[in-house]
Amino acid sequence: MTDHRLSRGAHTPIGVSFEFFPPKTEEMEIQLWEAFNRLAPLNPNFVSVTYGAGGSTRERTHATVARIVRETTIRPAAHLTCVAATRAEIDEVVRGYWAAGVRHIVALRGDAVGGVGAAYEAHPGGYATSTDLVRAIKRIADFEVSVSAYPEGHPESASIDQDIEHLKAKIDAGATRAITQFFFENDLYFRYLDRVRAKGVEIPILPGVVPVQNFKQTANFARKTGASVPQWLADRFEGLDNDPATRRLIAAAVVAEQVVDLVDRGVTDFHFYTMNRADLVYAACHLLGLRPAPATQEKMFA
Ligand code: FAD
Repeated sequence: MTDHRLSRGAHTPIGVSFEFFPPKTEEMEIQLWEAFNRLAPLNPNFVSVTYGAGGSTRERTHATVARIVRETTIRPAAHLTCVAATRAEIDEVVRGYWAAGVRHIVALRGDAVGGVGAAYEAHPGGYATSTDLVRAIKRIADFEVSVSAYPEGHPESASIDQDIEHLKAKIDAGATRAITQFFFENDLYFRYLDRVRAKGVEIPILPGVVPVQNFKQTANFARKTGASVPQWLADRFEGLDNDPATRRLIAAAVVAEQVVDLVDRGVTDFHFYTMNRADLVYAACHLLGLRPAPATQEKMFA
């Protein structure tokens, strides 16, 4: 039997981006850079660094993206949210990114200070919506701006159509790329893409792919963010709580199946939520035909 899916995947030119979170401790910092150094030779279009809830990682996000600019050839995108900060404070962060050589921001509203699920209230002196934030960023400097998209709807949105109208407003304000919340059923992504395209949205909508590093954690997080967790996924991890080696193999199989199906259905650009771990993402990229580029590797760290 010919493995037509893998061979097709291997011949399609693929673009990838990797998302990291800023480390809290020295140990986490080591883990981040290990993952970064493993994935960087795959020559991603960009790597993004998240901005902690309530702006809690402001300095750490800045330090991480600044180090990527200084020490590597990879282009970083800094995430930024509107939460718990005045417009002046946010503008200062944006200018700081520009001064550090960052040219790409992932602009988000963020979650309520009380955590995901609590009612969101804009800071009285802050930017009220992600659309306002995108507009402000573009006013400050000519950044490339990416924004979020929700194939299953954002938990606070009244409908997918309202979500898409909101996405259009972010694009009108200057966003040129959307990255989706993760999903496990690819049909959800393609159905969303059809609806978005039917409304005249033409920017790239990168599928956000999350390898299941830890099923319980992923399922919990999914519940809060409005992403559904299919029963078949739960079934695959059932009974493996004390069997990390098999869990890992299952996780690799799940992400392999997902990306190969996406590429078979025409997707050429992927955004991976790495959780600061490289191996599953590296394997998925390998499957997609990506190989380390020696030139990039040499220029990595001086
Ligand atoms: P938005 O897209 O601005 O809004 C969410 C929904 O609310 C919309 O879909 C819309 O339906 C509704 N809505 C909002 N404003 C209006 C309005 N004015 N009128 C009508 N409807 C409206 N969080 C972090 O804290 N740090 C991060 O680094 C981070 N990175 C992320 C990266 C990606 C790719 C994604 C998908 C999410 C990320 N998040 C991050 C989570 C995000 O902050 C939360 O999901 C938050 O609840 C919404 O922010 P947003 O910019 O996605 O929302």
